[in-house]
This record gives sequence, C-alpha cells and structure tokens, in this order.
Amino acid sequence: MDALPPALQGEDLISTNPATGEVVGKVQVTTTDELDAMVGRAWHAYHNSGWKSLLPHRRALVLNAIADGIAAEKEALATLQMKDNGKPLAECRGMVESAIGTFRYYAGVCETIETNVTPSRGEYVSFTVLEPFGVVAAITPWNSPIMNDATKVAPALAAGNAVLLKPSEDSPLLGPELARIALKAGLPADMLQVVQGKGADIGAALVAHPGVRMVSFTGGTTTGRAIGRTCGDKLIPVALELGGKSPHVVFADANIEHAVAAVVAGIFGSAGQSCVAGSRVMIEESIYDEVLAQIVARAKTLKVLPPDAAGVEVGPLASFHHRDRVVAFVNRARQEGGRILCGGEVPTGGDYDRGAYYLPTIIDGLAYDSLTCQEEAFGPVLVAIPFKDEAELIEKGNGTAFGLACGIWTESFKKAWRIGRALEAGSVWINTYKQSVTTTPFGGFKNSGIGREKGIDGLRLYAQVKSMYFGLHENPMSVAR
Ligand code: NAD
Repeated sequence: MDALPPALQGEDLISTNPATGEVVGKVQVTTTDELDAMVGRAWHAYHNSGWKSLLPHRRALVLNAIADGIAAEKEALATLQMKDNGKPLAECRGMVESAIGTFRYYAGVCETIETNVTPSRGEYVSFTVLEPFGVVAAITPWNSPIMNDATKVAPALAAGNAVLLKPSEDSPLLGPELARIALKAGLPADMLQVVQGKGADIGAALVAHPGVRMVSFTGGTTTGRAIGRTCGDKLIPVALELGGKSPHVVFADANIEHAVAAVVAGIFGSAGQSCVAGSRVMIEESIYDEVLAQIVARAKTLKVLPPDAAGVEVGPLASFHHRDRVVAFVNRARQEGGRILCGGEVPTGGDYDRGAYYLPTIIDGLAYDSLTCQEEAFGPVLVAIPFKDEAELIEKGNGTAFGLACGIWTESFKKAWRIGRALEAGSVWINTYKQSVTTTPFGGFKNSGIGREKGIDGLRLYAQVKSMYFGLHENPMSVAR
C-alpha cells in the first residue's frame, strides 16, 4: 500500500468544540501500517471468534447488550457529541436514542433473517442463505456521528461481518466510544475497530485495501464518486448515502401554519447540517409572497445560541472551516443576483465571537438552475422558488442532480400522491417532514446515493446471497442436467 504523507504518520487528531473553540479531546491518526494490521486482525476475528456462526439469537443478545451499554451512558454520549460537533444537546439526545433503537432493531432482525426455500421435486431441494462479506468498511460524516455509526455498524455486525469504522476527522470521538461499549457488551475483540484520520489519506487507503470486501459510505457526493470508482476497480459492493437539495413544497390548499413551521424546522434544525434538510422551499405562485413573508418572519425569531443553552433552536456549525464554506456559498448567491431576505451573515458579540455561528438565511430571486439552487450548502441556507402549476413544480423540483427527499404540504390526498410519485426522491414526506424510523428504508435517487439503509434492506447491504442445492434422488446422476 502507498504510505501516508510523513506529516500524518502517527499524528494526533484534535477535536475542538465549535461553540467555544476549546479542545474536547484527541485521537491518534491511524498509519497505513496500523491499517494493514487492523485488517489482518479483523479477518482473524471474523474467522476465529465464532461471531459469524453464532446462532442468530446469541448474536442478538450481544446487539441488545450494546444497546443497553449505549443507554447506560446516554447523557455522557449526547454531551460528548454536542461538544464534538456543536449540535444542540436535545438533538444529540435524539441521536443517541436513535442509535439505541438501531441496535435493538437489528438484534430483532438478526433472528428473522429469511431464507427462500424452493420445494423439493423429489430430485433436490434448493434454498438461499445470507452470508457476510467478511471485513467491511463503514465511513461516516461529522453531522450525526453516533447515529450514522450505529446505522452502519449494527446491521453489518448483525449480518456477521467484522467492521472497520472510519469516523470523520471533524468528529472523531464517538466512534471509539461505540467500539468500547461493544467490546464490553460481549462483541469479540477486533470485530469492531476504529480507523482515524483524514478521508483523502487513510479513508482512501481503507477503501482501496485488498482485505476490505464491501464499503458503506455516508458523506458528500464528490467523495462518494471517488469511493465508488475505487470499489468499481476492486469489483466490490458499495453503498452510498450522499447529499441532497431537497424540495419542500407548499401548495395553496395547505395548512399554511403547519407548513411554515415545518419548512423552518426542516432547514434550520441542526443548523441545516442534515442530508435531508429541506433546502429549497417551493411555493405555489398565488401564495408565494404571503407564505415566504411568514417563513422569513419565523426564521428571524429563531434562537441562535450555544448548543447547551436553554431554548436553543440553532447552534453553531460543526467547525470553523465548514462555516467558511457556508459564508462562501452565500457570497456566491449574492453574486448570482440572490436577494438575502434574512441572515446572510456571521453574528457577532458574546458567545458568537467564540463559536462557528451563522444566522439562518433565506434567499430568493434566483434562477432555479443557478448554482445556489443546485448545490448543497449543508448549512442554514434556504432558497425560495415559486411555481405556477404542477408541471413547473415537477420540472424545477426534479431539476437538480440530487434526489434524497422531498416534503409536500397540501390537503388534497390525490395531489399529494401524484406529486409524491412524480418527484425523484428516496423519501417523500406528506404533511410532515424529516421523520425517520429504523424500520423504514432510507436512501437516495440519482446523485443522492446507491442502496438503502435501515429496515431489512439495511441488513441486506451487508450480506451476500448464497444458493444451496441438496440432491435427494437415489441416483443423482440420472437427473443431472
Ligand atoms: P465527506 O464526504 O467530506 O466525508 C465523509 C467521510 O468520508 C469522512 O469520514 C471523511 O474522512 C471520509 N472521506 C473523505 N474523503 C474520502 C476518500 N477519498 N476516501 C474515503 N473516505 C473519505 O462528507 P462530510 O463533509 O463529512 O459530510 C457532509 C456530507 O455528508 C453532506 O454532503 C451530506 O449531505 C452528506 N450526508 C449524507 C447523509 C445521507 O444519509 N444521505 C447523511 C449525513 C450526511
């Protein structure tokens, strides 16, 4: 394997709290030599620990014990995530709950992994079994580390694999906690190991490693494409959960009060750092000015505060360098002729001077094919786009490279059905937004990804189908084809 640049060999990765700039903790960057050794240990554990051949209900016991272990430390984990990436504490608590639920769900699914049996014709009986890949890589972003880690690790383990988890260099502290809890819960040593460091260096080395047989990635589309290329060369399966520019549609017949509240929460929750943020609000022309004015008025009331402050609605961005990207995104929107209706600046004074804050921003007056309307900001930036009829809505709504999610507000069931089917999106929310349950598959159309996480589909990602035939005939060769 190629060696990492000398500067990154054995270097520390420092996590800073984006609300204060203070150091929260540090981890050691994994060197390529260590990566080699980790892959070797993962294969050894896969073959020798007995995990893959445990009866499913025994595996389920351990997955449930991991859920118990997370639950026992939930406040500490939520607080650590809050410091690691700046999300409001209440949101971090929700993500820890989601991680607990994910391990419990896959403990249950583990016991019900189906097989498909073809009835005997007297000559043979055939059926399928699901087999693990062996050693798989799980690469996660910084926006919701504990939740994203659990979404990959739980089903990958449930299917019997050994996992190399690579958290983002911008939020490296939760992955090691999950590995520690899993080991304590009874997961055999080396079945879950954590690789740390920069994506372009050790992340790329992990994907390219000949000992890695499947890759599951959540992150940006450009990175996903690079990982997909490497997996293509290796001819190994890859699951990609990528970015979005999700349309949030408000029809004139909608419950406007609910729609306005959902549009604001759908983009400014998590300071917009959510792959399913409803970052394009599309409003029917006849109500455009009035509804947009209500959305802007509400956005201006949002409490932008430190993540542990009472009443916080929007916390800081996850890092100072990410805020620089958001600043550049809004500056480009200005150059493209966008009208800034609120926000559009870094707040100053008091806590704001220490943290990576950015004000909730709403922009209109842009062509729907402008870069601002096409590209993901991954920050608190909403663009407003009017539409005059369903045909124009569908054209503009589908007019980006993405297809992760959409929201539709209307009192007409038939219209909701029509538009929900016509919009290219992996998740459609009708008169609600950003709901997600472990049992329901999640993933993207078009450049938003390949494959589905969560639900049974989320387990199948980590398993390969093996077809088995048992000969039953007294004289097998007389019926051989
Ligand atoms: P990113 O693509 O920069 O990084 C994600 C992870 O990939 C990190 O761990 C990083 O170290 C690693 N990485 C980077 N380059 C790599 C390479 N060449 N090879 C291997 N690994 C590499 O994304 P980010 O900035 O951390 O996260 C934000 C993005 O994630 C947004 O685009 C967002 O929409 C997306 N996201 C998608 C979902 C989803 O489920 N669809 C969920 C959350 C975030």
